[in-house]
Amino acid sequence: MLRSYLARVFPIDVLREIEGSLAEMGRLAGVDLYQLQLADRLNEPRLTQWDAWGNRIDKIELTPLWRVAERIAAEHGVVATAYEQKHGSLSRVHQCALAYLFTPSTDIYSCPLAMTDGAARTLLGSGNQALIDRALPHLTARDANEFWTAGQWMTELTGGSDVGLSETVAKPDANGYRLYGRKWFTSAISSQIALTLARPEGNPPGGRGLALFYLETRDEHGRPRNIEINRLKDKLGTRKVPTAELNLVGTPAQLVKGTTDGVRNIAPVLNITRLWNGISAVALMRRGVALASDYAGKRVAFGAPLSEKPLHADTLAGLEAESEAAFHLAFYVAELTGQSETHEISEDDALLLRLLTPVMKLTTGKQAVMVASEVLECFGGAGYVEDTGLPVLLRDSQVLPIWEGTTNVLALDTLRAIDSLRPLQLAVTRCLETVRDHDLADAVRVARTSLDHATSWLAEARSAGQPALEAGARRFALTLGRTMELSLLIKHAQWSHDQEQDRQSTAAARRFAQSGVDLIF
Ligand SMILES: Cc1cc2nc3c(=O)[nH]c(=O)nc-3n(C[C@H](O)[C@H](O)[C@H](O)COP(=O)(O)OP(=O)(O)OC[C@H]3O[C@@H](n4cnc5c(N)ncnc54)[C@H](O)[C@@H]3O)c2cc1C
Repeated sequence: MLRSYLARVFPIDVLREIEGSLAEMGRLAGVDLYQLQLADRLNEPRLTQWDAWGNRIDKIELTPLWRVAERIAAEHGVVATAYEQKHGSLSRVHQCALAYLFTPSTDIYSCPLAMTDGAARTLLGSGNQALIDRALPHLTARDANEFWTAGQWMTELTGGSDVGLSETVAKPDANGYRLYGRKWFTSAISSQIALTLARPEGNPPGGRGLALFYLETRDEHGRPRNIEINRLKDKLGTRKVPTAELNLVGTPAQLVKGTTDGVRNIAPVLNITRLWNGISAVALMRRGVALASDYAGKRVAFGAPLSEKPLHADTLAGLEAESEAAFHLAFYVAELTGQSETHEISEDDALLLRLLTPVMKLTTGKQAVMVASEVLECFGGAGYVEDTGLPVLLRDSQVLPIWEGTTNVLALDTLRAIDSLRPLQLAVTRCLETVRDHDLADAVRVARTSLDHATSWLAEARSAGQPALEAGARRFALTLGRTMELSLLIKHAQWSHDQEQDRQSTAAARRFAQSGVDLIF
């Protein structure tokens, strides 16, 4: 799937240039990192709050795989590739392909990388030259000794969705500000820097009164800078990610951009972390489907391998279709993100990117959980047993619809992003207009009718009023996501049929079209 997609979007000479980096990452993920991951299964990060002499140290020890993953991520440019821009807007796609290969074997090390990428993009766009000079070379370093990761500390006890309620206060001092407050979910607390929200003293309540701050988490001796780590969260999944609850007790921090509008100013972080969320979703789906397909050839039941049982084959085909559809949407958002970063994006596509970022995140997040759950079932009882290494797929996937904006919160954001559906209609038309294969005709019809239904629903719900609009927002956003997925899958299927004489994507498109695209009812 990845090879076929890359052959479609990259010019052949560029593909030849980047192929080596992807093959090497594939080898690492399939062999070295995978073996380490299996050996690391029972390890978890540890917090030591006090040393033997009663000093507060709040030391975090990472798992062995995470320490290796950090080095490999830096050296292979899993963040840097997007900033070096050796191949213009396609550098973002190249980077996402590296992340896609890297993610399934690195125990959600994608989490700090996503936030690092988001911080780099935000600082670059902030115009704050001092912070850019200070942090960017580290965030985009390929030398592991120079590489820094970033955290994103938004969620407080008062809310993760409604961050306007944040209670952290910023008091000015001679060198900038000092922050006082309690952050309730801070992932990858091992990061060297964080972007966070706080309310400068005297500012009004609500999101506008918050400002965006930059802080460095530890001093030159490795001690937290006026940060107390209260505990690490005991989580369902992402258990290798040290997610902390912490108190800011006069933490030195600097303004990134102005003394207000922090929620708006942190949005670039979220656009990037949502893209990573989608890439992680498709990466985990791919790992699960690959394992389930492999097992189906080996497990014999009722006299034949499962792969020869029509119902099991149909189950796998459904999973394959979901994962291919999700793949194309996530990578399409990567393409648009790259075009936006290199200022090559049209006005319509800029609006499309604004719309598809939440739509893609919420759609692929839900698919990842569904696919992981079904993958476990494909292994029967073994899928439920820890030392197969399978249950972690489901636990880790379950975070994808929650962090970086829940499904409902992003569905409401989708409504805010829509002035009209025109950019999406244009994109769907572009995908479908050149399709000639008769085998794709039904799928094309499903994509068109789903989009028409979404368009008419939006008009009706708008006239029915805000409660009706909000109540249907999730079904609407999922319908847009699945319609766009189907359209991209059809486009790829036609291309693959023509250029590669391959019918795999055609089968996936036909199957996906029957799996519920219009969810509005
Ligand atoms: C493993 C993990 C790591 C995390 N790491 C970080 C981190 O590093 N930094 C960080 O800042 N945060 C982090 N978070 C927090 C995460 O981003 C929040 O949990 C998430 O945004 C939801 O916020 P909440 O928990 O306050 O839930 P709430 O906002 O209370 O939401 C509860 C429910 O209400 C729904 N809801 C909320 N508002 C509406 C509405 N208007 N209409 C309809 N439904 C609504 C939501 O969809 C959800 O189902 C992490 C979370 C997890 C699980």
